[in-house]
Amino acid sequence: MRNPSDAGQVVLPGMPRRLLRASPTSLSDFSDCPRRYRFANVDRPLPPRGPRFAHHSVGTALHQVLAQWYDLPVERRTAGAARQLLYAAWSPVGFRDDEQSDRWRARAAGWLTDYVAELDPTVEPRARERTVSTTTERMTLSGRVDRIDERGEELVVVDYKTGRMPSTDDEARGSQALALYVLAVRRTLRRPCSRVELHHLPSGTVAGFDHTEKSLANHARRAEDVAIDIQAATEAVTAGQDPDEAFPVVPGRQCGWCDFRPACPAGQAAEPAREPWSFLAEEDDLPA
Ligand code: SF4
Repeated sequence: MRNPSDAGQVVLPGMPRRLLRASPTSLSDFSDCPRRYRFANVDRPLPPRGPRFAHHSVGTALHQVLAQWYDLPVERRTAGAARQLLYAAWSPVGFRDDEQSDRWRARAAGWLTDYVAELDPTVEPRARERTVSTTTERMTLSGRVDRIDERGEELVVVDYKTGRMPSTDDEARGSQALALYVLAVRRTLRRPCSRVELHHLPSGTVAGFDHTEKSLANHARRAEDVAIDIQAATEAVTAGQDPDEAFPVVPGRQCGWCDFRPACPAGQAAEPAREPWSFLAEEDDLPA
């Protein structure tokens, strides 16, 4: 294990603390399971990862298509063009067989057709797949936003969702990642931004929330608390503590889909191995 350059430092009195480099994903990893954070951010070389899941292939292709669709000239931004892009972007990795992959590609093409039909192709987003960053007392935080819309003077953070269940306004309100993106969009693009939206492609629904300064401050404070815990764990290792104790495992259902399961005996014991296609919502599971 190595110590990352942004933590594990010796802090002398009066010496400014080096900021932790973090992302919404790394903070969420640590909150869910400190060992997963360590695998992804501290250990080098990276521990072996498990096989790619089919539902990740679906999500990756759809995100890619929706970013590329806006690269097309306005007159070519059609549902047909979106489907063509999907065919080029599609990966069969993780599916049981060609039949399942083809069936899901057709299903994803249907979602795209419906979603794109609701978009005005002449309206340019402010950004797509844009990395934004900000600095807090404890960390430099960066992450990539799926889409940033312009609505009047305001910018809106848009996140595409491709899971089985439609998103809810409560989910939009409670998402630490989206709140941190708002702060990072403000800082990076120097424009007002308060609204976050979850666009659920399978159902064509949009969930949203308009953040207040208070709700953003609450999210930022909780993120800072996680950063403090990460720095404490990293410094403990530097001071000689067993890394397995400083970054304990938190076994649970998430071990079934954790990327680092092959490197984690506790995770293997907690949950049986799942087939790479087992997290796809088949017809019977999808909401009406
Ligand atoms: S398999 Fe489970 S316990 Fe192990 S790192 Fe992943 S989430 Fe943590």
